[in-house]
Amino acid sequence: MSSQLPDTKITYPSPIRAPSPVPVDDAVLPYEVDALDLRGRLTRLGPTLDDILTKHDYPTPVGKLLGEAIVLTTLLGSSLKFDGRFILQTQSDGPVSFLIVDFKAPDRLRAYARFDAGRIKDGQDSGSLLGKGHLAMTIDQGPDMSRYQGLVALDGGSLEDAAHEYFLRSEQIPTRVRLAVGEEWRGGDGPRHRWRAGGMLMQFLPKAPERARQADLHPGDAPEGTVAHTVAEDDAWVEGQSLIATVEDVELIDPDLSGERLLYRLFHERGVRVFKPLALKAQCSCSRAAVASMLKSFEPRDRAEMVKDGKVEVTCEFCSSVYQFTPQEAGAE
Ligand SMILES: [Zn+2]
Repeated sequence: MSSQLPDTKITYPSPIRAPSPVPVDDAVLPYEVDALDLRGRLTRLGPTLDDILTKHDYPTPVGKLLGEAIVLTTLLGSSLKFDGRFILQTQSDGPVSFLIVDFKAPDRLRAYARFDAGRIKDGQDSGSLLGKGHLAMTIDQGPDMSRYQGLVALDGGSLEDAAHEYFLRSEQIPTRVRLAVGEEWRGGDGPRHRWRAGGMLMQFLPKAPERARQADLHPGDAPEGTVAHTVAEDDAWVEGQSLIATVEDVELIDPDLSGERLLYRLFHERGVRVFKPLALKAQCSCSRAAVASMLKSFEPRDRAEMVKDGKVEVTCEFCSSVYQFTPQEAGAE
């Protein structure tokens, strides 16, 4: 079912016009609908997502939420044209107090979540798992470049809501995002349970900027009688939004439906072009050498306190790899 993609570097995409009938997992597919001035990306995740989530054995609602965050990260971070990092994090007062997804261009993903197991309920949605707090997106282009950080408040809504709010307030680009995460149960040999996910980003980028005008956010506690700011949206953007609104979760995660077919299903009347897909993989950047140098940065007294049963053991929060050191190696003697 999952196809092996060659290692693709992010280069200027060359259009592929014939839709591939073969579903490709763990990839981001850029697309464009010229007639409506729409551009976007479609993500399908299979083994990569399953690898990240099963290493942690998260409760189902937490796995789903982290899966959504991973899909959102691939949709936003895959536009990086350099060997940089895109990091999405939340900090909030809900049962999932912290989550982080770290995307290293062109293709590496890792992620984890911290949560209070006693506060998790079956079927809890992502908004109530997060609660109130903020979502931060950081673009790190290396030590000699400035970091960019975008912040958006979390107010009990979903990650899709937070993404829409971010693009409306900070980027002022008309944007819709869809995120879906599901579990697949199979019979026969091999793993019976697998995580899958899919998502879609769509942006309205007309050549004439005035066509992209959007209404201001609701004035909230503005004095009574204040007239809400309204703007008639461009017909092309209205049409794009109504098309993406028809995408169902099951279509985003269906292992038998290729990304090209899904885009064709949505936009065939207007014509859609897809570009070379970008492959993704789950890969942590931790190493024994990096953990050893992190240990050396602690005070000798702190290192001594880390010795348990005659050894120092460090677990990577991203990938659950366990690194063991003798007290001597850890400098704890
Ligand atoms: Zn690791």
